[in-house]
Amino acid sequence: MICPNCGSSETNLDKGYFSPNLYEGYSYLSTILKTKDDLLKFRDGQSECICKNCGIVFLSPWLSISQRNEIFNKQKRVHNSGWVGLENSLMGSSRLKLQHVAYTLLNRAIAKLDQRGLVVTKYAEFNCPFSGPRLYTFSQTYSFTARLTALKNSVFKGNETSFSSSIEKFFLRLNFFIFRILIVLKYLRISVNKSDEKVKIHNFLENSDLIVANSSCFWSGNCVRFNSTCTGLSNSLLFKEVVHVGAASKLYDLIFASNVLDHVDNPTSIVETLLGFSKALVVQVHTKRSIGYQHLYALNSGFFNKLASRFEVINLGIINSANGYSEQGFLLIKMK
Ligand SMILES: [Zn+2]
Repeated sequence: MICPNCGSSETNLDKGYFSPNLYEGYSYLSTILKTKDDLLKFRDGQSECICKNCGIVFLSPWLSISQRNEIFNKQKRVHNSGWVGLENSLMGSSRLKLQHVAYTLLNRAIAKLDQRGLVVTKYAEFNCPFSGPRLYTFSQTYSFTARLTALKNSVFKGNETSFSSSIEKFFLRLNFFIFRILIVLKYLRISVNKSDEKVKIHNFLENSDLIVANSSCFWSGNCVRFNSTCTGLSNSLLFKEVVHVGAASKLYDLIFASNVLDHVDNPTSIVETLLGFSKALVVQVHTKRSIGYQHLYALNSGFFNKLASRFEVINLGIINSANGYSEQGFLLIKMK
């Protein structure tokens, strides 16, 4: 197998680590494979492969970009992780487990950078607007009512002009009204044993940007509610600017990538690109090798160790999160 990340042919099939999650694209695969037997053969023949050159773990057989586009954008297009995070943020930071881990990793990274004399003032997050520390601090900064109002303003800001039909407008407002009632009910239910700690809000988070890159297996544009994609919404709600990775003109001190690097087509080249305009990068990943829904790669210490010849790589450790998921971080610093 040729490594889809770095192109090396030095790869090892690892039958012991089979993860069955690519069947998410089942209905599509069943159209390209002739019989059910073929489908099962594909499924059972699929294994994880480790690249000896770049250390990445990937699925074999590998799917082409057009196949991935078909699976992740058409057959299984709904993936509202971002919106679910946003919904949880309305109810308080105690609901944001993934983002809480991100926030803790961020603080560990800041301490490491501080030891090296690096102060973070220009900060950005990468690809998912609602998985990282920025959302966590948003839920800490404002009251429940203020958060809900901010979301309402963001949802309607973009749509008032683009929506021509008054019927559509009516249903959008009705949907949002129902959403608000449900959120208030949920909020009241959990507020009984709500125990939000007050955390330090770093000033740079208020002025952060979102860097985005295209990918054939990332939900971004498919994470939609109220006719708003999460990326489109993030601009008015949490971030100063949304910048495409190819058009970045500012220099950043730190970029945070929470659970998104395993969703891009070429993780190594994205790391290199981001560290081309940022002094440091934090990557939050799963500790388990869980190549799953829209995760065609697994990134773990093997992958980051390979980057250590070009960047200073610091393992930020593992944080015990309640769901045992996405709890590990690595800090990469550009070498002088
Ligand atoms: Zn490789």
